[in-house]
Amino acid sequence: MSKILAANFKTNHTRASTAEYIAQLDQWMQKNGYRDEVYIFPPFTALDSFETKSSIVVGAQNAYPTVKGSFTGEIGLEQLDEFGIKTILVGHSERRHLLGETQEFIASKYRWFTERGLTIFYCIGEPLEVREQGEEAVRRYIVEQLEGIDTSYENLIMAYEPVWAIGTGKTATPKLIEKTHAVIKSLCDRPLLYGGSVKPANIEEILSTPGCDGALIGTASWDVSSMVSMLETVIEQ
Ligand code: PEP
Repeated sequence: MSKILAANFKTNHTRASTAEYIAQLDQWMQKNGYRDEVYIFPPFTALDSFETKSSIVVGAQNAYPTVKGSFTGEIGLEQLDEFGIKTILVGHSERRHLLGETQEFIASKYRWFTERGLTIFYCIGEPLEVREQGEEAVRRYIVEQLEGIDTSYENLIMAYEPVWAIGTGKTATPKLIEKTHAVIKSLCDRPLLYGGSVKPANIEEILSTPGCDGALIGTASWDVSSMVSMLETVIEQ
């Protein structure tokens, strides 16, 4: 079964190093006949019209729900269109918790971009204190994060990223991923990725988990050889 791998660069890589990364990955994918979907989300300043020959798709980590306007520090559809960017992340926990995006705002952003046909990676996941309250609390939290979200949207890719596993080195166990993915799939029948400290050493186990259609990778994706090694795992599976 094909798998989706996505690399979230966050605030890492420059314009030059992103171009170099994408060129190297593209070359490796062509040479190895890699055809599964691969998404790269570089920082805004590194966005460009990359002419790749493989299945790499470049997306934006964020955008404001506007064509253009007065939203200091943001970019809108006009800036995405300049580079033919048709994919964005919405609802990432760092935007929810560090940058204060509310569910109401996230849902309105989601709706705005669905109306324009963009592919959306919609991220959900519970913080540690909710996980510690047990399965039912996690379920309720997930339901809240789906409030205002059209889960039947055809260009939606879901990502389950428990906050306590992001950038911490603490990966969720396959059993926990399987259980939580089953809950999410019962609410939303779209491709579902796992994210949270995925790396070359654990990606095989994670991708073999029932109900896991791929991975959204932060830290371990920033080095191209680490990303290649995760793609190799997909080929070998
Ligand atoms: C992320 O932020 O989307 C992520 C999965 O990060 P990391 O792989 O570093 O946990």
